Amino acid sequence: MSDRYHRSMLLFGAEGQQRLCETSVLLVGAGGLGSPFAQHLALLGVKRVMAADAEELDETNRNRFVGARFDDPVPGSAKVDLVCRTVKEINPEVDVQPLPFNLVSAEVFAAAREADWIVGCFDKDGPRAILNELSAVYDKPYIDLASDVPEPGIYGGRVCVSLNGNGCLECMGLLDRREVRRYFETPEQREREDAIYGIPQGALEEKGPSVSPINGVIASIAATEFMVAVTGMREPTRLQEYRGWESKVLVSKDEPTADCPICKGIRGKPQEADVERYLRLPHLRFGE
Ligand SMILES: [Zn+2]
Repeated sequence: MSDRYHRSMLLFGAEGQQRLCETSVLLVGAGGLGSPFAQHLALLGVKRVMAADAEELDETNRNRFVGARFDDPVPGSAKVDLVCRTVKEINPEVDVQPLPFNLVSAEVFAAAREADWIVGCFDKDGPRAILNELSAVYDKPYIDLASDVPEPGIYGGRVCVSLNGNGCLECMGLLDRREVRRYFETPEQREREDAIYGIPQGALEEKGPSVSPINGVIASIAATEFMVAVTGMREPTRLQEYRGWESKVLVSKDEPTADCPICKGIRGKPQEADVERYLRLPHLRFGE
C-alpha cells in the first residue's frame, strides 16, 4: 500500500483501505453534487469510478462544478469527461469509466449491475425514483444526495443511505409523487394534463439556486457515510438532514413504512421486477 493512504489508514486501518481499493462505484449525475463527491472517491482511493451523465458543461455550472477549468470549452465539454479527468489527476491509480448517457440507458443499467455501490446526485425526483428501484433490484447499497433551497432563507439538503432493505427513498417518504409521476409521462400526456389542470408550479424546468459550499457539505456527509460503511468503521446512518440556515446536521429518527414495495417487495429480484421496462420507454431517455 502506497504512502498516499498513510493518514487514512491511521483512521480505518490497512484493511479498511484495502476494502476501499477493491470497491467500484457508479456515480449517476456528474454535476454540482457529483463532482465534489467524485473528488472524495479519488482521494479515498477506490478501485473504479463509473460516472454517468448525458449533459455537457454550461456557463451556469461554473459556480459549483469541481474540476471544471475556466478554459474548458462551452459547448464541448462532457460533464463525465471533466469528472473522470479530475479523478485521474488526483489519483491515477483509480480506474475511471465515463458514461455520457442518461440514467435510462442500457449502458448505465449495466454499470449498476457491475458496481459495488451506487450513488445518485440528481436534482429531480423522477430519475431518483428509478435509481432507488434499480439499486434495490440489483441489491446494491445506494446513497442519494440532494441539495435543497425550497424557499428564500431555507437552504441545505440531505443524504439517504439505503442498504439491505433497511429503508429507501420510497418508504422514507423522500420522493415527490407528483414530480415522479410527471417524469414518467410522455410529452403528449403532459400537454394533455396541463391543458386540463393548468401547468403545475415548478414544472417549467426552471432551475433553483445552487452553490458550491452547500453542495460540498452534502457531498462530504455522503462520502463520510460511504467511507464508514466500506471500511467497517460503523453502520452508515440512514438519513441525515443538513440545515444550512440553522448550521445543523440532524439525524432523522423516522422509521421506514412497513412493507415497502421496493425494500421488501422487489429487492434482489431482477426478473420479477423487470426494471429493464424503463429501457423500453424511449421518452425517458431524454430530458432528464
Ligand atoms: Zn423502501
